[in-house]
Amino acid sequence: MDFIKQRRLMVDLQLRPRGIKDEGVLHAMATVERHLFVSEDLQESAYDDCALPIGCGQTISQPYMVALMTELLHLEGHERVLEIGTGSGYQTAVLSMLASEVYTVERIPSLAERAQALLERLGYKNVQVRISDGTIGLPSQSPFDAILVTAGAPEIPEEYIGQLKVGGRLVIPIGSRYSQVLYQIRRTETGIEKSDSTGCVFVPLIGEKGWKEEGLY
Ligand code: SAM
Repeated sequence: MDFIKQRRLMVDLQLRPRGIKDEGVLHAMATVERHLFVSEDLQESAYDDCALPIGCGQTISQPYMVALMTELLHLEGHERVLEIGTGSGYQTAVLSMLASEVYTVERIPSLAERAQALLERLGYKNVQVRISDGTIGLPSQSPFDAILVTAGAPEIPEEYIGQLKVGGRLVIPIGSRYSQVLYQIRRTETGIEKSDSTGCVFVPLIGEKGWKEEGLY
């Protein structure tokens, strides 16, 4: 399978036509080897226009959603970024190409450990993976220029706003457990500015300031 060609097609047929314009984001999407972040039996589908299972009842998000959320962060390369929901580590790798430092938090230890090992093996050096409840952010490393939440929350945890620099951006899906709206929030001197982007469906953000625990995985 020609994965380089698959990535080019993903960018040209899924991302550009839907309005992703940031050339840095498009370059990262054309570069990160998404097929290495899914199990071997799913590699042929890695560049399809959909989310895929990654184990423990979780998913690697649809490529377009990864690109859109990343574009909404408006990264220039110098930022300290916090990602909540490491999952496979794919979004982390995309962020790693576009920011200076990336902290990523995952609540399921086996996913975090697998992502950390893979990111290390692939040479993504500016990434730190933490196992904890990301609904309270990562206070020890704050403030951040940007926070990206890759699971759906019932409301915006106030902790995220408090851990953003003034001018910092938060991108987060908010809604019910089964469908959400993607919001972009900017911290200002006096509060926040909030705008909505698109409807989306994410797995739930589970924790102290999120949804209640699901069954066992
Ligand atoms: N960004 C991931 C990727 O590229 O593969 C996809 C993330 S998946 C849609 C959402 C992830 O959020 C899951 O791995 C899930 O375990 C994690 N998650 C849910 N609640 C969390 C919490 N409170 N703290 C940290 N991670 C959480």
